[in-house]
Amino acid sequence: MPSFSVRTRLTLWYASVLTLIICVFSTGIFLFVRARLSHDLDTQLGRDLATVDRIYREEPRELTDLDSHWGIMLFQIFAKDTVVYQTDGWERAGLARAVAGDRGAMPRSWKAADGRSFRLQTASGPSYEVAVAIDEAPLSRTLRTLAVILIMGIPCAIGLAIAGGYVLAGRVLSPIGAMADQARKITADSLGERLPVKNPADEFGRLATVFNETLARLDDSFARLRRFTADASHELRTPLTAMRSVGEVALQRSLDRAAYRDVIGSMLEEVDRLTRLVETLLTLTRAESGRVHLARNVVDLGGLATAVADSLRVLAEEKAQTLSVDAEAEIKAMGDANVLRQGLSNLVDNAIKYTPEKGAITVRVAKMSLAEAAIEVRDTGRGIPSAHRDRIFDRFYRVDTARARDSGGLGLGLAISRWAIEAHGGRIELESEEGKGSVFRIVLPRT
Ligand code: ADP
Repeated sequence: MPSFSVRTRLTLWYASVLTLIICVFSTGIFLFVRARLSHDLDTQLGRDLATVDRIYREEPRELTDLDSHWGIMLFQIFAKDTVVYQTDGWERAGLARAVAGDRGAMPRSWKAADGRSFRLQTASGPSYEVAVAIDEAPLSRTLRTLAVILIMGIPCAIGLAIAGGYVLAGRVLSPIGAMADQARKITADSLGERLPVKNPADEFGRLATVFNETLARLDDSFARLRRFTADASHELRTPLTAMRSVGEVALQRSLDRAAYRDVIGSMLEEVDRLTRLVETLLTLTRAESGRVHLARNVVDLGGLATAVADSLRVLAEEKAQTLSVDAEAEIKAMGDANVLRQGLSNLVDNAIKYTPEKGAITVRVAKMSLAEAAIEVRDTGRGIPSAHRDRIFDRFYRVDTARARDSGGLGLGLAISRWAIEAHGGRIELESEEGKGSVFRIVLPRT
């Protein structure tokens, strides 16, 4: 089967349906007009019969004038099988034969030997019978004319329907063409462009809007990917540059054994940083591509918070900070304890890192609602300016790049935390007041 364009298919469908409708409608008109005209002819026949009957009974001498006065040309009166009166036309048309013998149901049509067709009606008086006929030729002519008009009109109407349908289908489908032209021009470098939307409420408008939303998401993903590539290269280059300059300086001078050890030590520090960076990136990439298998166990969130705080307490003590845990008992969630621990410990680690000495860090575990539990990590640090709040969960995003890097941060901690919590059907909320501290709240479905 040949594959037609949508425009041609629409036109053909439209024309076929319209042809069917026109044919049914025309047949209906023809049948209705024929029934109506036949009915009128029979009514006329009945009237003529009554007239002939009355004249015969009241003034038989005037029968000869019926033609000129009433236009009744074909009738016959007979009594006891003898013709009392008949018109010339009756005789000429041979209608005598039509009423002779079996007459069948009346009124009825009768065809003469010469092909002419008549409509016949008879009536019986007390001692006579009257038969009247009307030539059906005018009725046949009218019906033939109507049939010719309809038969000639149908192809014209279909032709117009095809032409009109083709033009209309072209107009209706034109937004698709415009969309295709525009879509063809969009490449990875021009993802900012959008498809034209003439009327957002109609089907094509909705399609274009959906495409545009997809393009916007792709654009966003591409931008993030580009930013990530640039940031990752930058992050990888920094330790490499440091290693190179430390090595070059060491090569230029002749150093003693201890100094060489120092050089190697600081180079290993950078290697360490590089290793951590690459490993964390790998974890994140595997996590985000859905390749990490999560265990599904019941995890006691209070116990989890205490374990995380205990493992990081030494860092807080180094800065003379207080790190306290305030956990309601029996708050549980389903999930992978290791992944949840990673997500929470990044938040506590940040709270310690970005809170000055002698600050206070509190981890609170509480019910939020019947269905949700919260783990809040509150610090008295410098807070996060509102302009950065939406972006700090992005990979490599830091509020204060230099300071964060000095403190050993890779800029990936919050990205990992967010993945860890979202993979458990939860979310991380952030409240922060600049200069007064921050609250990171993990919200998880309870069991
Ligand atoms: P980093 O390794 O730099 O800590 P993160 O992804 O963990 O990376 O954090 C991103 C940035 O968010 C940090 O560089 C820091 O500027 C900011 N940040 C995170 N937690 C806190 C906090 N508790 N207080 C202030 N700033 C924070």
